[in-house]
Amino acid sequence: MNSWNSNISPNCRCCSVPERETSEHLFQNGEVARVVWQYFNGAAGINHLTYLKQSIRKWWDTGGNARVKVVFQVVPMIILWVLWKRRNTILHGGIYSTKKSIRDANDIIRKLIVCRFKIKWDIYQWSDMVVALEGYIPSYSFRIVRWSPPSDNWFECNTDGASRGNPGPSSAAFCIRDSLGHLVVAKGIKIQDTTTLVAGARAIRECMEYCKVHRVFKVIIESDSIAMVQILEGTWKAPWSVVLEVDYIKKLRRTVSARVQHSLLEGNTLADFFLT
Ligand SMILES: [Zn+2]
Repeated sequence: MNSWNSNISPNCRCCSVPERETSEHLFQNGEVARVVWQYFNGAAGINHLTYLKQSIRKWWDTGGNARVKVVFQVVPMIILWVLWKRRNTILHGGIYSTKKSIRDANDIIRKLIVCRFKIKWDIYQWSDMVVALEGYIPSYSFRIVRWSPPSDNWFECNTDGASRGNPGPSSAAFCIRDSLGHLVVAKGIKIQDTTTLVAGARAIRECMEYCKVHRVFKVIIESDSIAMVQILEGTWKAPWSVVLEVDYIKKLRRTVSARVQHSLLEGNTLADFFLT
């Protein structure tokens, strides 16, 4: 590969005996690149490979628990960034040691971990970071999901939109139960190809239209789409794709008093049924 800028010297700024600066040299096989890679490879148990692409691929493929995976996917990018920064600093007359390259990469990785996993960390060395990351055991929180009937005179509506392919063939479905838990109606329709979000909105609209026509004026609408709930509560701005449906729902809410809430209850089973 040729140098990328003919106005500057084609020689590298990383070796005791300068060589032609190709991207493979600068980022993978030059003296500085080798030292930096070896520092990070070593603790990660990855061998130094001849080509940059191989090297990055190796980092991406070397997995572990969820946290290790996330960090290993970005480490190569951070190394490349630091090598690039070093090269340009020196090109413009500055000083940037190999040690500083390693320190800077360490620092970025650490910040990323703290920020991404929202943890407090007093670990500063890459090798210690790997040990700590590998010792990470995901913790799961549980919650009991059950359907509870609405209070008197209120009806509970479970709505669900599904899109196979997202976008793709879609369906919208809803069911309504009274305060005793009796099923009042269950309905599903196939709709034109769209996204999960639009299908979710359509399900709510269909449900509320049914309520309006059948004079069901107090409803609790449950949707498994957090996005849809946030949009209808006004917390999130509606993306253009659902603006029409959302306006429609708003108009219906003038007649039908609806509380909208998120539910894990039905999953996607209701609408999926109509896709088959
Ligand atoms: Zn060099």
